[in-house]
Amino acid sequence: MKVGFVSLGCSKNLVDTEMMVGLFKKNKYEIVNNPEEAEVIVINTCGFIQQAKEEAINTILEMAEYKKKKCKVLIVTGCLIERYKDELTKEMPEVDLFIKFSEYDSFWKQVENIIKKKNDYTELDFLDRIVTTGNNYAYIRIADGCDNFCTFCAIPYIRGRFTSRKEEDILEEVRSLAKQGIREFIIIAQDTTKYGVDIYGKPMLADILHKISEIDGVEWIRFLYSYPETITYDLIKEVKNNDKICKYFDIPMQHISDKILKKMNRKSNKESTKKLITKLRKEIPNVIIRSTLMVGFPGETQEDFEELYEFVKWAKFDKLGCFTYSKEEGTGASKMPMQVHPMTKKSRYNKIMSLQQQISKDNLKRLIGKEYKVLIENAIVADDNEVYFVGRTYMDVPEIDGYIYLKGEADINTFVKCKVTSVNEYDLMGEIL
Ligand code: SF4
Repeated sequence: MKVGFVSLGCSKNLVDTEMMVGLFKKNKYEIVNNPEEAEVIVINTCGFIQQAKEEAINTILEMAEYKKKKCKVLIVTGCLIERYKDELTKEMPEVDLFIKFSEYDSFWKQVENIIKKKNDYTELDFLDRIVTTGNNYAYIRIADGCDNFCTFCAIPYIRGRFTSRKEEDILEEVRSLAKQGIREFIIIAQDTTKYGVDIYGKPMLADILHKISEIDGVEWIRFLYSYPETITYDLIKEVKNNDKICKYFDIPMQHISDKILKKMNRKSNKESTKKLITKLRKEIPNVIIRSTLMVGFPGETQEDFEELYEFVKWAKFDKLGCFTYSKEEGTGASKMPMQVHPMTKKSRYNKIMSLQQQISKDNLKRLIGKEYKVLIENAIVADDNEVYFVGRTYMDVPEIDGYIYLKGEADINTFVKCKVTSVNEYDLMGEIL
């Protein structure tokens, strides 16, 4: 049978999808990209914010249309199902099977029952994962769930409590992917910097990064979603001294006003956050700092927003994402008074983003003339009929940050040295040396 997948949401969800792809492949299913050809369609949903829920519902309805053609079985799993399985089961009879995370132990059994086809019974396994992000990089999920209970976030209710994977398990997965030729490993979790605390009694991110860097074939490692308060000095030292670890910190800070951080149930405050940024820049020359902020949290006054705006001016983040607060069912913040008007949220969002646009432009201009190691991912023919190689420097996370477009000679999936010759808003241009 032919099976197609739709993966929505974040990279952590994508890892689940990749394990499902592996499981179907192991059971002799043919994986297809075109939903028109698929007899089974699996949708892995995201239910993180309102927008994601709407996208998931629209995708389910869109994929259900293929049941009028070749598709016989529609399976839906992921975060949305975790929260709304009962309601969706009643309201969406076009879906044949809804599976929650807690039912992953019997994933294949349930799939088999519904497809009524006998195959070898197996389970979802990281080692069977089929990486769908190309040959250059793979996400490695080292833990799942979260214990932080930020009042705006539904993740702890969706993915459960924080649970680290065993070190040996992670290393085995990286070894296997490195053997397949993957060069860059992107370490993720909901709360990456907490890795190890639950099973080893102390933060072990620095340690696991070090061990990953010793695996043959691993050339670049980066980690995303660091919680500011759990970035240890050991971790900073490891990033500083290990050539294989990209000098890049992704630290969702959410806000800077102490009052708002407290209402968000964040452990950081303005002073500790500013100290951390200063320390990272002092310890690691040319470190890239990315952050994510949220505007319009309940009770955010004009003064709180101005404090945030001034902070962005001060921090001059290399990369910055911004979200408007969205009310998530069952979370603490959804019941808080003083919800901010949607127009005010939007206008605050626009102000932060246009300030950051100017900061990014100035940051990028400083890169002209500098030399960088680049992982070549692709080649394109541009409007001027010239071939450009497309790659990323240590400063760029795939699908989040920009690219560098290079003239010269290179092979795909190799590293080259290049010189930046010009920049535009988010991307760089350069030549291969
Ligand atoms: S740290 Fe906060 S925002 Fe991040 S997943 Fe956990 S609860 Fe959600």
